[in-house]
Amino acid sequence: MTYFYLCGMQIFDNNKSEKTPISNIGEFGLIDELKKNIDISNSQTVKGIGDDAAVIKLDDKNLQTISKDLLIEGIHFDLSYTPLKHLGYKSVVVSISDIYSMNAKPEYILVGIALSNRFTVEAVKEIYEGINLACKKYDIDFIGGDTTSSTSGLMISVTSIGKVKNKEIVYRSGAKKNDLVVASGDFGAAFLGLQILKREKQIFIDNPKVQPDLSGHDYILQRQLKPEAALKYIKILHELKIKPTAMIDVSDGLSSEIIHIAKNSKVGINVYEEKIPIDHTVMNIASELNLNPIFCALNGGEDYELLFTINQKEYKKIEKDPDFTILGHVTEKSEGINFVTADGNSHPLDAKGWDSYSEK
Ligand code: ADP
Ligand code: MG
Repeated sequence: MTYFYLCGMQIFDNNKSEKTPISNIGEFGLIDELKKNIDISNSQTVKGIGDDAAVIKLDDKNLQTISKDLLIEGIHFDLSYTPLKHLGYKSVVVSISDIYSMNAKPEYILVGIALSNRFTVEAVKEIYEGINLACKKYDIDFIGGDTTSSTSGLMISVTSIGKVKNKEIVYRSGAKKNDLVVASGDFGAAFLGLQILKREKQIFIDNPKVQPDLSGHDYILQRQLKPEAALKYIKILHELKIKPTAMIDVSDGLSSEIIHIAKNSKVGINVYEEKIPIDHTVMNIASELNLNPIFCALNGGEDYELLFTINQKEYKKIEKDPDFTILGHVTEKSEGINFVTADGNSHPLDAKGWDSYSEK
C-alpha cells in the first residue's frame, strides 16, 4: 500500500519518488513553500504570511495585528534550568515582541498548553503566574487558550493580538535606499546566558556534588530566562516622533533579521562590525568561553530587540540616544547585504552570518 483515502483525503502518499528533507530548504524556505498554496479571500485581510504579524482591518482608522509563537521543551527550553514562572513570562514576551515590531500595541493573548503527566497542578499554576505577570507588565488581557496532554514534554503556544492606527503600522518591507539601519539595546547576551546554563548543567551531570556557579552572570541570565519585549523602545520612538520605514524584532539573530528587512524591502544593506552594540559583560564572558562576541551578536538570537530603518532626516533625533545604535545604511538591492569588518573588508552576510564570514 502506498496511500489510502480517509474522509475523501489522500494520506500516506508514498507514490511520489522525490522527498525533500526540510533541512534542504530550512525554516524560511519551508514557510515560503507552504505559503504558495495559501489563498487570502477575505477583503479585511491586509497582510497574511510574511511579516512579524498578520494584519487585519479593524475599522476605518485601526488595524489589528496577530502573531503566534510556539515553545517546545527540549528545543526552546530545558526545564532542568528554566524556572516555570520565568518560562510563562518568556512565552508571552516572545509572542508580543512580534506585535511591537509592527509598531502596534499588544492587547490580548490566548495560550495553548500541552502537558505531560509529570506536571502537577502547582507546576502549571507557576507557569500561569509568569504569564499573568507579563500580562500585567504589558497591560494585556489573557482571554483564552487550549489545554491538552502531551507524550513528549511541555509545549506552550501564545497567540498575541494587537492594535495600531492605519498610519502607524510598520512592515518589514518599507526600507528605502539611504535609510539608516538602527537597533535598540545590545546583542549576544541571551545566547551567552544559555551557554552558561548549559555549561553548569553539564558540570552538575558530571559531578552532582558540584553546585552550579551562576554568580556574576545576572545580566546574561536575565536576558535568556526573563527577556523583556521592546515596549520601552517603542515609547521612545513615539516620543521622538520617529516612525521607522521598516521594522522587525530580533528573535533569530541580528544577521537573519537584517536579511529579512533587506529581502522584504528589496534593498541592499551594509552593516558595520564596529557599530554592533555588545554589553561589556558579553565581551568578558565570550572571551571566557572562547567565543567571538560578534558571532554571538550576529547569530545568537533571542535578544528581542528591535531592528529598524529610518529616513536620514531623523538622524539628529537619534544620534545621541543611548537606547539606539546606528549599525549601517540601506543601499541598492544590487549592492547586496554586506557585513563590513573593522579592517574595512566587506563580506556578504547570510543567515549563518559568521560561518560564511569566517570561512573567507
Ligand atoms: P518570527 O520569527 O517573527 O516569529 P517567523 O519566521 O516565525 O516570524 O514567521 C514568519 C512568517 O511566517 C509569519 O508571518 C508567520 O505567521 C508565518 N508562519 C510561520 N510558520 C507558519 C506556519 N507553520 N504556517 C503558516 N504561516 C507560518
Ligand atoms: Mg519576529
